[in-house]
Amino acid sequence: MALARPTIHRSLPVLAATAALVAGTLTVPAAAAGPGPAAARAPGKAPVAVGHGGAVASVDADASAAGIEVLRKGGNAVDAAVATAAALGVTEPYSGGIGGGGYLVYYDAKTRNVSTIDGRERAPLSATKDLFLEKGRPVPFADAVTSGLSVGTPGVPATWDTALRAWGSRSLGDVLKPAQKLARDGFTVDATFRKQTADNEARFKDFPATAKLFLPGGKPPAVGSTLKNPDLARTYGLLARQGVDAIYRGAVGRDIVRTVRKPPVDPASHRVARPGDLTERDLRAYGVRKQAPTRVAYRGLDVYGVAPSSSGGTTVGEALNILENSDLKRLDRTTYLHRYIEASRIAFADRNRWVGDPAFEKVPVDGLTSQRFADSRACLIKDGAVLTSPLPPGDPRHPKPCAHRGAAAPTPYEGEHTTHLTVADKWGNVVAYTLTIEQTGGSGITVPGRGFLLNNELTDFSFTPVSPGVHDPNLPGPGKRPRSSLSPTIVLKDGRPAFALGSPGGSTIITTVLQTLLNHVDRGMPLVEAIAAPRASQRNAAATELEPGLWDSPLRGRLEAKGHVFKANPEIGAATGVQRLPDGRWVAAAETSRRGGGSAMVVRPAGKPPVR
Ligand code: GLU
Repeated sequence: MALARPTIHRSLPVLAATAALVAGTLTVPAAAAGPGPAAARAPGKAPVAVGHGGAVASVDADASAAGIEVLRKGGNAVDAAVATAAALGVTEPYSGGIGGGGYLVYYDAKTRNVSTIDGRERAPLSATKDLFLEKGRPVPFADAVTSGLSVGTPGVPATWDTALRAWGSRSLGDVLKPAQKLARDGFTVDATFRKQTADNEARFKDFPATAKLFLPGGKPPAVGSTLKNPDLARTYGLLARQGVDAIYRGAVGRDIVRTVRKPPVDPASHRVARPGDLTERDLRAYGVRKQAPTRVAYRGLDVYGVAPSSSGGTTVGEALNILENSDLKRLDRTTYLHRYIEASRIAFADRNRWVGDPAFEKVPVDGLTSQRFADSRACLIKDGAVLTSPLPPGDPRHPKPCAHRGAAAPTPYEGEHTTHLTVADKWGNVVAYTLTIEQTGGSGITVPGRGFLLNNELTDFSFTPVSPGVHDPNLPGPGKRPRSSLSPTIVLKDGRPAFALGSPGGSTIITTVLQTLLNHVDRGMPLVEAIAAPRASQRNAAATELEPGLWDSPLRGRLEAKGHVFKANPEIGAATGVQRLPDGRWVAAAETSRRGGGSAMVVRPAGKPPVR
């Protein structure tokens, strides 16, 4: 069923920025003007910046400023990425933080290597495939969302620690400083934060620690008010002194375990928050995985993403390989969108059948990212017809032109949350980092006295096999990582960074990254325009989701005439990226309007961003 056209509220500064962008007259404010009162920094939020010395793009001005501060003081991209992520833990606490997980991709300018860190949350070691079954029936999804049962062992602190030790030049304590200050002094609540709080009010109020933090006076904070998080400032201080052992072997970890095992619900509320079986042993046993990136060659570029347990790298990669069979540059917009939608549909059919945690499942990563397999799937695409979803998967281990293997596996529900940051430094190092606590607001459960929300990432597992009787690689298991869609991506040309990007948005992350990349590479849009362009998302479902810019356009009718079915989605994703210009300057790019607009900054602004 189609939804009514949604209203999107744009803030005036963002509208002005968009208009200036289109006119090519955008001048970049000195947004990197360093710390000051939060309220004074807010107007500096700009969706694009260009210049020297490094670049940071995130959804939030305070967070981007934290990264810029570290770059300006001589830190590198990894130092700045951790600083930005830690600040997002303050200002975007419903999307990511030390109670969650994520994936980080790093390009090292000296070695020209791309590395990745899988910092995904893990199920408790006691978990079985029946984790979400009670008396043989699946726990209702809504109940699982707000529970200890869905909390995985956090991976964010270990990701920061691992990245800094491997490639950073500053200590954890150093890079946490801007975020610590932000948590202590407070940040200015904007309309997005207030709305996210209001959307969560009903469950937040059932957890006194969450209500105390995010519902001051019992209500969502007013736009323009200052929100402080002294508990998180102290937790960051503890991490600075004790390192991440404070979480994996120390007092904060013990508090996490206690909270998960007995979620601290207001005794006056009727909420039943199921406990989880997380133990101190789970925390001690946690380790990130440093693993090789996925790589596909695409039109002379090398596209690097994260390998499973995320499905991001393989699925974006397969779709790109499929689309390499089309000259997208020359196609009319209708045919371009048609082929993009069909390639996404096919890539999701294969993702759903084959991708799970590789520690538990044989995931044919090489096959999924091979050109031969993509070619065998590309032949399904016909310009005069639309494929039917759910489409069955192919077999990447034995590709046969246009052949299917086994039953279709539809894409299970995933929310549209999370946050992504992209950073580059003056040496040419690049980080693309997506972090999440799953749902906006995660489990809704704050660790009392510690100032952060716990994730509900384990809801990314299939509770039961998506196709009854067919092997599902994404069932829970002991210490297993649920399949993710996070898709931080770095693109190289001749071994040097061309651009990098990523987005939040659950399974729509994959299509957002894919579409933005195509807009930029094939359709010639400058990065910020490629990000701003209206999105379509097909994930092996009957209907393709369309943002208003496409829903309201004549393109929809033309595609419907081919047989496409659409439903409206008010907003898909919130991407950020950086781009290296041929003259050595960096462009930072973020959203012009989604989620209230993002924040792009460079250390030393110089010149204007590229236009078409
Ligand atoms: N849990 C999702 C994933 O890892 C991210 C959360 C979201 O964006 O909805 O793919």
